[in-house]
Amino acid sequence: MNCIFCKIVNNDIPSYTIYEDEIVKVFLDVNPDSNGHMLIIPRQHVLDITEIESDAWNHILNITKNMKSLLEEKLKIDGLTLIQNNGMVQEVKHFHLHLKPYYKERQNLLPIEDIYNKLKEH
Ligand code: AMP
Ligand code: ZN
Repeated sequence: MNCIFCKIVNNDIPSYTIYEDEIVKVFLDVNPDSNGHMLIIPRQHVLDITEIESDAWNHILNITKNMKSLLEEKLKIDGLTLIQNNGMVQEVKHFHLHLKPYYKERQNLLPIEDIYNKLKEH
């Protein structure tokens, strides 16, 4: 199957991976709306909200909470918007949840490498 997110799961194409486990992978969106814009995807190829199983969705919820804490700690975000597109508004046909940070002060978009390094530094 020619799915770009399956290729990211299999490391056939590179990604700025922030977190992964046996169920999900979290990586930076290459075309971010704001600094730290990331995507959470199930490793298993499922299309959308209709196909995702409750266990995977519940796990994604827990990982979202962890990523929110990480963004607060490392990027000092002031808010976070979750978006999950389905049907005609879904461009990539592998389930993904967008985590879009909000900042009360206007921010210039930084290079994705810089954001990656900030999120990964200890
Ligand atoms: P949508 O399907 O409309 O919810 O959005 C798909 C998102 O995937 C867009 O925000 C793209 O910037 C993002 N995207 C597409 N290809 C890649 C990639 N190779 N690595 C990271 N993000 C990607
Ligand atoms: Zn896929």
